[in-house]
Amino acid sequence: MSNFNQESVLSVHHWTDTLFSFTTTRDPSFRFRNGEFTMIGLKIGGKPLMRAYSVASANYEDRLEFFSIKVPDGPLTSHLQHLKAGDQVMVGRKATGTLVIDNLESGRNLYLIGTGTGLAPFLSVIKDPETYERFEKIVLLHGCRHVAELAYGEMINEMLPKDEMIGDLVSDKLIYYPTVTRDPFHNRGRITDLMNSGKLYSDIGLPMLDPAHDRAMICGSPALMTEMRASLLAKGMVEGNQGEPGQFVIEKAFAER
Ligand SMILES: Cc1cc2nc3c(=O)[nH]c(=O)nc-3n(C[C@H](O)[C@H](O)[C@H](O)COP(=O)(O)OP(=O)(O)OC[C@H]3O[C@@H](n4cnc5c(N)ncnc54)[C@H](O)[C@@H]3O)c2cc1C
Repeated sequence: MSNFNQESVLSVHHWTDTLFSFTTTRDPSFRFRNGEFTMIGLKIGGKPLMRAYSVASANYEDRLEFFSIKVPDGPLTSHLQHLKAGDQVMVGRKATGTLVIDNLESGRNLYLIGTGTGLAPFLSVIKDPETYERFEKIVLLHGCRHVAELAYGEMINEMLPKDEMIGDLVSDKLIYYPTVTRDPFHNRGRITDLMNSGKLYSDIGLPMLDPAHDRAMICGSPALMTEMRASLLAKGMVEGNQGEPGQFVIEKAFAER
């Protein structure tokens, strides 16, 4: 049996000339935990070309969603960005990853910190009712260079609070904080700077991240990961993994090649 299911593309949305999202059918046998990634790809030159992708839809939804970069001349994304409804995509039969709430000790507030397409795993985590059961407030931070790159803002602000299943939980507990570094916008600056200066906390009306009570998940560029890991370890926080829950967990949004 192949390691991949063939799925049909249902819809494609281009956010900018560097970012797009698409949805596909979902084989009923494909199971995942919210926050995990799988391998997806296309047959190129007769051979499968697969890359890791976070699943952006929740594990109770009957379609899959992915949020993708378009890398100029990228081996996969230079093809993937031309997907249209009805096209076939290969999707791994298994999912894995560290950004799952089971890998975190219980706590008060949960910080979900993503840059660029590093938002993707958190899109499923914020749709999971268990996230709201485990934590008092969920703070979703999304950092980008430009306002146009703040994908999914409308879904998070407008649609999720009206969702039949989790709308009330979202309205009560989710704080969405998008920020950009290169355009005028109501929130400006790098996430690490906003946390270190305390501006984030005065803006959202929560106490500063406290290692004793608060937990974090981080998904972004290798540079963001290095900086955030050092900062959280310096606060005395313990990194969790698949085997042992901790106070924060980290995953690369992409690998440098
Ligand atoms: C655990 C994991 C989860 C991932 N989840 C996603 C996801 O949900 N969405 C997604 O678009 N990508 C994701 N990626 C990256 C993805 O696997 C591919 O690298 C990406 O699709 C580009 O593929 P490519 O073959 O076109 O170029 P590649 O040869 O894979 O990449 C070329 C270069 O492009 C840059 N790059 C690659 N991906 C990104 C990105 N996402 N953001 C900014 N720069 C990037 C890097 O500098 C890289 O060296 C993930 C990677 C890992 C390790």
